[in-house]
Amino acid sequence: EPGTGSDSGAIRTTAVKDGDEYVLNGEKIFVTAGERSTHVVVWATVDKSLGRAAIKSFVVPRDAPGLTVARLEHKLGIKASDTAVLLLENCRIPKDNILGSAEVDVKKGFGGVMQTFDNTRPLVAAMAVGCSRAALEELRQILSDAGVEIDYDVPANSQHAAAAEFIRLEADWEAAYLLSLRAAWMADNKKPNSLEASMSKAKAGRTGTDVTLKAVELAGTIGYSQHTLLEKWSRDSKILDIFEGTQQIQQLIVARRLLGKSSAELK
Ligand SMILES: Cc1cc2nc3c(=O)[nH]c(=O)nc-3n(C[C@H](O)[C@H](O)[C@H](O)COP(=O)(O)OP(=O)(O)OC[C@H]3O[C@@H](n4cnc5c(N)ncnc54)[C@H](O)[C@@H]3O)c2cc1C
Repeated sequence: EPGTGSDSGAIRTTAVKDGDEYVLNGEKIFVTAGERSTHVVVWATVDKSLGRAAIKSFVVPRDAPGLTVARLEHKLGIKASDTAVLLLENCRIPKDNILGSAEVDVKKGFGGVMQTFDNTRPLVAAMAVGCSRAALEELRQILSDAGVEIDYDVPANSQHAAAAEFIRLEADWEAAYLLSLRAAWMADNKKPNSLEASMSKAKAGRTGTDVTLKAVELAGTIGYSQHTLLEKWSRDSKILDIFEGTQQIQQLIVARRLLGKSSAELK
């Protein structure tokens, strides 16, 4: 929402029950695939006076009366994916479109809606892992064509500087890959994984941008030009370090969980 990003507890969109329907009012910005999707998931408060516990998720059909696309953003990367501003003006949806319980439990806070991230963060981490793997493979070929071979049996610092850098990038990538697999495996097996999901997202988001940008650098003019996809991947990867919670927010969550601090104690 305008004025609210990382602090998802501060959203202002409202959902008011009216008979068999909820009536939604508010504005949502930077909605991925907001134009071409058939449905969007909207977070809204059912009672502002009850704080975060009153924030619920709703499934809203894109053709619901009162839901309009105000504009599309022009942006750095992921240009094949539209990014929309959505307006909800007395938008009516069936009351059953609420996700989870309609009950507001102030003791539980908004842990329920936040659990969505336990599934989506490993997914975004996996996108960063895939994007950076592609960049590494492309770079390996470019280096090989230039006569630079990577030898895993020789210490990195005894090799060509580009080969040593490649090995360092690959080690970072491996860590991101393993963290993502662990977080996804835990989600699949219904194990609590909030900590691991944030770890995977923080590491893979950072690794994705590091690896893809370094690949542009090491490939020289080939990397910067549009002859290969390296320049595109370096632009596309940045968003994976931002949406579903930025790298800094993931680090904050990891720190809170490891130190046993609440969100009020560690901001
Ligand atoms: C292309 C694109 C698509 C998106 N798609 C969606 C979508 O489909 N659905 C959706 O809900 N959102 C979407 N988003 C929004 C995205 O999740 C937010 O942009 C992101 O969470 C950051 O919020 P913000 O932009 O308001 O930045 P802010 O919260 O203002 O943060 C700005 C900077 O401050 C840092 N920061 C903030 N708080 C702290 C803190 N406590 N400690 C340390 N650093 C901090 C952040 O890490 C960031 O670097 C999208 C964004 C983009 C750019």
